[in-house]
Amino acid sequence: MSAELYRTTRPGLLRLGDEGQTVQVAGWVHNRRDHGGIAFLDLRDATGLLQVVVDPEAGVASADVLSGLRREYVISVVGVIAARGADHANTELGTGEIELVATELRVLSAAEALPFQLDDRVEVDESLRLQYRYLDLRRPAMAANLQARSKAIRAMRRVLDDQDFLEVETPTLVASTPEGARDVLVPSRLRQGHFYALPQSPQLFKQLLMISGVDRYYQVARCYRDEDFRADRQIEFTQLDLEGAFWGQEDVLQTLEEIAVAVVSDLRGIELARPFPRLTWQEAMDRYGTDKPDIRFGMEVQDLSAVFAETEFKAFAGVLGRGGTVRGINAGEQGLARAGLDGLVDRALSLGAKGLVWMVVEDDGALRSPVAKFLNDAEKAALIGELDASPGDLLLIVADEFKVVSKVLGALRLDMGQPEGHEELAFLMVTDFPVFEVADDGALVAMHHPFTAPEDIDEMVANPQAAVSRAYDVVLNGSELGSGSVRIHDPDTQAKVFAALGISEEDATRRFGWFMDALRYGTPPHAGFAYGIDRMVSILQGLPNIREVIPFPKTQTGSDPLTGSPSRVEDAQLAEIGIAVAPEVVASWAEDGE
Ligand code: ASP
Repeated sequence: MSAELYRTTRPGLLRLGDEGQTVQVAGWVHNRRDHGGIAFLDLRDATGLLQVVVDPEAGVASADVLSGLRREYVISVVGVIAARGADHANTELGTGEIELVATELRVLSAAEALPFQLDDRVEVDESLRLQYRYLDLRRPAMAANLQARSKAIRAMRRVLDDQDFLEVETPTLVASTPEGARDVLVPSRLRQGHFYALPQSPQLFKQLLMISGVDRYYQVARCYRDEDFRADRQIEFTQLDLEGAFWGQEDVLQTLEEIAVAVVSDLRGIELARPFPRLTWQEAMDRYGTDKPDIRFGMEVQDLSAVFAETEFKAFAGVLGRGGTVRGINAGEQGLARAGLDGLVDRALSLGAKGLVWMVVEDDGALRSPVAKFLNDAEKAALIGELDASPGDLLLIVADEFKVVSKVLGALRLDMGQPEGHEELAFLMVTDFPVFEVADDGALVAMHHPFTAPEDIDEMVANPQAAVSRAYDVVLNGSELGSGSVRIHDPDTQAKVFAALGISEEDATRRFGWFMDALRYGTPPHAGFAYGIDRMVSILQGLPNIREVIPFPKTQTGSDPLTGSPSRVEDAQLAEIGIAVAPEVVASWAEDGE
């Protein structure tokens, strides 16, 4: 065996039909079983597993070497492919009908006993997996996730390269931009007391590229948002960011479909039907109570305000009198006992409702509900008609302002009906988002970002809260895969949007003067979008958590158990950048035993 030659092929690629071939493969010892003096090794690399048969009598390697071979040793083996015979075949493996009968075996690296078993069927604590991510990534399921991610990005690049998009990198040390999240700040050494922000997205740079004459831009861009962590959020994440000049919403949506179709075809082998269904934001909210509806199932929200227009039931009448709305869903046959129904009420309260009315349709069509006695027969009949209710069905009704009703019914609808997993894929485009939303403190904030073009700027100035924008989202199975918009391309409109957001002229000039200036030098109309790559790949891999498709993610608390980040740094390092840690923080370290 030549010392420099490690392999002539890969273990997972060999198949029945390759019998008799002499090959050399290299990889890790995934598993070892000894039967009647013969060692059976499962040799693994990223292509899969191959059974290697080592007969100690055959002079393959010394007895010491053979007896010392343990899990995760790295070896190179020369041997002859043999058919296993039907009785010994393993139908779960692509290589299950063959094995490699070793003639030479060399240990390339030893491995210590592992902190956990590298077996996809064994559940391991996530912080331990992250601490030893390099071992975790060896597991076939994780290797498959990395491959899927790479394939997805390759498909994206293929579509965009074919359309002559230019891949352009933008800086990661930038000035803070308002994308709605908290910035990750980086102190400057040379200008002490000044900070860079890591980009929440390349938004303004890609707009500058349009002004620069780049016709079509894309970038696989790392973005940073210091938000609370959730299963589908990380402090750093990756977007497929794109933008085009002289591009309108319709063209963008076409390209977004082409990208999704290519990625799904490469990852799932499915050809998605086009065009994708579309809903306006208002339709999505009205029918599903959310702007990212899962349309794999119905259970749509129905407006019941007309049914109860004349009602004597005070809770409903009061809300309608104040301009609110009464809406409901037919959750179908849920078979819930009283405790289950009480649980739904609690859930609705926790979502911000003041109450939840439940009703169960009895066999004779009567309604069983704590509030049934307050409704007259005409209302009951109309309710059953509107919700298309049959005996056994559970009806859930909320009366409140539109925002609350939508939030509560949208969430209950998912609780009651959302399919598990992601076998079926339901893509959806949502368009015509409002320009602004009202934050909890009553202030207007941009629903997408402040660079999004309003449908009609005069109407926006006259009535900002009702203004519709030219923003759109792509949604998959109830998750937002990405957002984009047609942008503002003249400084006057931009100034009006800043003003509506309560950003003073001075503030706008101080923070975005450079961008407003750029808009003055001949800006082509432009539009764009960004797909969240982590989320897209995790859904297509059927995984609930984006951490599974991020090679080296952070934990829920933003730390990396492998490298220990974030970590304290030497005082000297801090002094160099003119930063001191606040005394109370230092004191808290002592309390935490740091
Ligand atoms: N920059 C936006 C975001 O990150 C996407 C876009 O508008 O293109 O959501």
